[in-house]
Amino acid sequence: MLSTMMAYPLTTHHILERAGRFFGDREIAWRRPDRSVARYTYADMRRRARALAAALVAAGIREGDRVATLMWNGGAHLEAYFGIPAAGAVLHTLNLRLAPEDIAWIVNDAEDRFVIVDDVLLPLWEKIRPHVNVERVLVAGSGAVPGWAERYEAFIAGKGEGFEYPDIGENAACGMCYTSGTTGRPKGVVYGHRSTVLHSITIAIPDCLGLSVHDAVLAVTPMFHANSWGVPYAAAMVGAKQVFPGPHLGAEDLLDLMAGEGITLALGVPTIWMTIREALDAHPGRWALARGMRMMVGGSAVPPAMIRAFDRHGLAIKHGWGMTETSPVGSLAWLKPQHVAADYDTQVAVRAKQGIPLPLVDMRIVGDAGEQPWDGKSVGELQVRGPWITGSYFKVGAQPDKFTADGWLRTGDVASMDAEGYLRIADRTKDLVKSGGEWISSVDLENAVMGHPAVAEAAVIAIPHPKWDERPLAVVVAKPGANVTAEALREHLLAQFPKWMVPDDYVFVDALPKTSTGKFLKTKLREDFRDYRSKA
Ligand code: ADP
Repeated sequence: MLSTMMAYPLTTHHILERAGRFFGDREIAWRRPDRSVARYTYADMRRRARALAAALVAAGIREGDRVATLMWNGGAHLEAYFGIPAAGAVLHTLNLRLAPEDIAWIVNDAEDRFVIVDDVLLPLWEKIRPHVNVERVLVAGSGAVPGWAERYEAFIAGKGEGFEYPDIGENAACGMCYTSGTTGRPKGVVYGHRSTVLHSITIAIPDCLGLSVHDAVLAVTPMFHANSWGVPYAAAMVGAKQVFPGPHLGAEDLLDLMAGEGITLALGVPTIWMTIREALDAHPGRWALARGMRMMVGGSAVPPAMIRAFDRHGLAIKHGWGMTETSPVGSLAWLKPQHVAADYDTQVAVRAKQGIPLPLVDMRIVGDAGEQPWDGKSVGELQVRGPWITGSYFKVGAQPDKFTADGWLRTGDVASMDAEGYLRIADRTKDLVKSGGEWISSVDLENAVMGHPAVAEAAVIAIPHPKWDERPLAVVVAKPGANVTAEALREHLLAQFPKWMVPDDYVFVDALPKTSTGKFLKTKLREDFRDYRSKA
């Protein structure tokens, strides 16, 4: 027997309408490149997002077409979050930290038709432009617009009156984000209207982010990283004030915004919080932050010391785990009633875990011998499934190294689960270095180092770093008789990679440990260099 309930599609249009109608006077504020703060309301944002949707449709954008953004976090980017899906199209956020050639490859793979670019990012787009076939380039901001582009403001001007949302199903795509490939090319994850709405509702519940209309949310997490963890959609759904840092990610700029805009929830990777903590310690009393301000921290493990340090400032860290493939929030750490009565050390230990799976998300730990018991000790690969977990990649499909035959996503994270259902990430099998929340492919670096004429072999591993969480360490074997220095290798790599990807640390050895099949034995290298500290 079927239910008597309506088959009412879950779409982001509904979130936009709700934000504009019921919370029309709530504010959205963002820092411009010149550091001034711009602001408008949800009513303005709704009007402009609908204008963008109408303009896209009038310009020939059809259902399912990809419209890219190359933008910092700000008001126009939020309009794109809603306006592009409102046109029935797919918001494709481009990671502006990647090398121009990599961005160009991603634009071509996604077959982006239009792109919206922040005026301050035009120099980057200039480097991408010769390698792509994008039909129209819309420039947001008030800077100069080159002849081959047009002004975003002019594009949306006078549009949107009487705009009607297309009748797309809830499983239609609304967004797209590429993951960093361990080897080979990045892969596209495609979000849907339904998955986005369900993710928004769930992250907003009290035990998750406890989002409400009374909140003021600062999204430091880039809007090009898994939709800034989905929080802009959830915040709009409940009518929370939203604040964006634009291109200014320095600790003092962020703290000024937090104090000035009355922020109650801020999100970012541990690296950001490390710098904020240093600024707070260096200038006690300088910023009047909302007492009990919550911080959602994830993307890399949160050290217990960081939780304690912020508690001393009266600021509460909420630790979460997720991936681009999981929309991205899969778990968040919250205390259960039995922990509330426990001592502080026990509480910190619980909060430092990656947390409890969100409602509707299933997790299992799979070892060589099959599914592992939830005893807090047995580790294996973390596998997940749920309504906002991707089941395949754009064009590539569901390869067996990423998905199991019975339909679970293989995360590449090595984890355990305890009897109470708390996840703990122990390690990862992905051969990547995560520096300041951004991935660096160790394989790409190794290949490039081995491209140096004086190098015989090289392996790159992640080493811990106090500020960047991880940095790459290159372990190098020189060719017999050849003379090579760290400086020469750095220079060699700087010609091929953005500066932040290039290792600061090089160690020269006589031989690299290998597996029986001749692959570099990274586990042994990690072991050998466990106590190595970055010189940078
Ligand atoms: P994001 O864009 O959110 O950083 P990615 O897909 O780039 O997502 O990275 C996901 C990976 O980051 C996870 O598979 C895991 O290895 C790592 N990660 C994310 N959150 C945590 C966490 N809280 N603790 C440890 N590792 C984490």
